[in-house]
Amino acid sequence: MATHNTRMLIVGSGPAGLSAAIYAARAGMEPIVVQGLQPGGQLTITTDVENYPGFRDVVQGPWLMEEMQAQAEHVGTRMIWDTITDINMDSGSPFRAVGDSGDEYIGDTLVIATGAQAKWLGAPGEADFNGKGVSACATCDGFFYRGKKIVVIGGGNTAVEEALYLTNHSDDVTIIHRRDEFRAEKILQDRVFANEKISVLWNKTVEEFLGDSTDGLTGLRLKDTLTGEESHFETEGAFVAIGHAPATELFKGKLEMDDGGYLIVEPGTPKTELPGVFACGDVMDHVYRQAVTAAGTGCMAALDAERFLATLEFEKKEAAE
Ligand code: NDP
Repeated sequence: MATHNTRMLIVGSGPAGLSAAIYAARAGMEPIVVQGLQPGGQLTITTDVENYPGFRDVVQGPWLMEEMQAQAEHVGTRMIWDTITDINMDSGSPFRAVGDSGDEYIGDTLVIATGAQAKWLGAPGEADFNGKGVSACATCDGFFYRGKKIVVIGGGNTAVEEALYLTNHSDDVTIIHRRDEFRAEKILQDRVFANEKISVLWNKTVEEFLGDSTDGLTGLRLKDTLTGEESHFETEGAFVAIGHAPATELFKGKLEMDDGGYLIVEPGTPKTELPGVFACGDVMDHVYRQAVTAAGTGCMAALDAERFLATLEFEKKEAAE
């Protein structure tokens, strides 16, 4: 069991964590990234990416994350394959974390970039057709279903926003919701009801995602929640939009969170209420949730952490004199 000391401890290795690492390493902070259970984050489970700036052609999510990691290492980041299981933030900087390996990590600053995961229905076939007709991100994958018959599953803001967005690519979008009313904001609902490209199937649950290995998803088996009657619905693209779960279990009772479990930061900054602790990427952003916005807030976290340390070191020096 080893102890690792660093000026910046970054928890999470998606675009937010790695962007923070690139900036911190170039500022000479010798950051450590503890990669977590899914090194590279959500992009490693997607395929085609064509909305991350800098690439004329489509790139693959896992490849993009490998490149980002290589770039972070190249400028001086230490990547450690471990999962943080506990962090002590009670007495402020330095922050002490313990990994699954038993190793201890001591960071003068802490950058939380643990991300979020889309929630899935867990119905049969859903995982089999992930990336082959099933997605949880319309902004990422909608383009691949242009001109096709698509469905969105859910009834919250995300579902109705995704349906509205998808009408840019398809004239045939159906929202499938388990109740007879949306929970989404009224203004978004009004837009959905006024949009001729969107239909709604109320009181239906998705029991199974159907298809084959050649064509991918071809349809859904639905069940009416009132009558129990089953039906078949043909579709080539299903967007599951039933919410996201931020990975913040570790910070319960330690950092302020909203009702959805997202970390609360000072508006327009990655600063949490604890000096020296910063949050970036999807763990603090339930609205945009894009790789590029995560990377942007990762950069902000590194810059603010650097300023925090400079001030701290100045104050220590002053006190010593
Ligand atoms: P929500 O939790 O608001 O909505 C989830 C939806 O999925 C609900 O309609 C729910 O149904 C349905 N659902 C959940 N589990 C299942 C299931 N197992 N089977 C079928 N349906 C299911 O999540 P959102 O992602 O929509 O929003 C999360 C937060 O982010 C909210 O606070 C939202 O306002 C916010 N947000 C804001 C945006 C904006 O301001 N522009 C954009 C997107 C999100 P039921 O209604 O029956 O519970």
